[in-house]
Amino acid sequence: MSIFDPVRLLQCPNCNETIDALSQQCRFCLAPIDPVAAQAAADVMSKVNQACSDASVLRTTAVAIPIFFGVRFIPFFGMLGLVGFYGLVIGVPALSLRWWIRFGRITSNDPDFTRAKRTVLIVAILTSILLLFMLLWLIAIFAALRR
Ligand SMILES: [Zn+2]
Repeated sequence: MSIFDPVRLLQCPNCNETIDALSQQCRFCLAPIDPVAAQAAADVMSKVNQACSDASVLRTTAVAIPIFFGVRFIPFFGMLGLVGFYGLVIGVPALSLRWWIRFGRITSNDPDFTRAKRTVLIVAILTSILLLFMLLWLIAIFAALRR
């Protein structure tokens, strides 16, 4: 944490309005703000914001999987589609796992965070199933080749 940080935001514990974490008093309900508690709450809030934006990037990336799969069948772009498809099928479950390690333990009743958690879970489950099928398919090919 440094003085060069952008304005840190906090939800007023009294009225739930979003306020500057460095203020001494809520500008909406005028409740006094405890600076130590405010810093801790602002830390959680900035993590929650990071978690939400990472989750939406993850969802967008997951949506690109069927697009790359489709690109495979376009002449001249097939290789790009193939590389993109396999890269994402392996990468997205890995990124979901990393998201879970970084943000899974945050306790927050922010509805955006709850939604982000659900999004990451759905993305992780779907892409893991896809990855599993891909591995089974590769094993089947190798088994067929060895015969
Ligand atoms: Zn307030």
